[in-house]
Amino acid sequence: MHIQVLTIFPQLFEPFLVTSLIGRAMERGLLDVAVHDLRHHTSDRHRSVDDEPYGGGGGMVMTAQPWLAAVRALSQPSPQGDATTAAEVKPWRILMSPQGQRLDEAKVRQLAERPRLMLLCGRYEGIDERVRLQVVDEELSIGDYVLSGGELPAMVLIEALSRQIPGVVQLADSVEQDSFRHGLLDYPHYTRPREIEGLEVPEVLLSGHHGDITAWRRRRAFEATLLKRPDLLEGMELEDGEQREVASLCLKHGISLPPGLQRPD
Ligand code: SAM
Repeated sequence: MHIQVLTIFPQLFEPFLVTSLIGRAMERGLLDVAVHDLRHHTSDRHRSVDDEPYGGGGGMVMTAQPWLAAVRALSQPSPQGDATTAAEVKPWRILMSPQGQRLDEAKVRQLAERPRLMLLCGRYEGIDERVRLQVVDEELSIGDYVLSGGELPAMVLIEALSRQIPGVVQLADSVEQDSFRHGLLDYPHYTRPREIEGLEVPEVLLSGHHGDITAWRRRRAFEATLLKRPDLLEGMELEDGEQREVASLCLKHGISLPPGLQRPD
């Protein structure tokens, strides 16, 4: 997967791109992230990227010129690329913005199908609206709060995307069990020591009985989801056994069944 990032703070990405899973994915060529400095695409000698807002008011607005120039120049297919490489595909251009669709697992998986993405990181009061109209395919938000720039949201997206690339997370199982992957939250995890501050590791995890462990983990995933994010269970299609599981967990915790789930006969 090829990702281009446009920012006025490329240095923010330096440690991110060489550390841990992302660093290894870059080294192994599974992920290619190129960070571009917007100021290289300015047309004035001061390399300015912002100006006062029309209509007055506080703050500065990022000017359209460098963005239009940069996005268009960087969307060009690479001259070396052959027609089958990602470099030959026009990038899907995403403006990181609190006004965009909120990022979730389904969106990450959908974007992971695209061979080439370009992420636009705004600053100040945001970018001149005409950039969005002219060169943006989609706006994406990482949540209903406002940050000072799009760089952290872009890193959030890159890290979430990287987990979808086969081989980045060494054990495919650990991605498969992740929260949201199959509509549920992940089950609780334990490691050594067996006892800490009087709290023991659940006996079943020490039993070596894979069937029991799988069943326990499934039940605990349902329990975590029911207690922390019951909205995820609303309307979910469950098999009979799972329906019974959820119903018994509701009884245990004295809570009602999430809407759309039926109490089994
Ligand atoms: N005035 C804008 C508004 O209220 O919609 C917010 C501008 S914000 C201070 C500057 C930049 O940070 C935005 O252009 C965007 O790139 C980024 N940003 C801030 N919050 C974000 C969020 N929740 N998700 C994605 N990007 C965000």
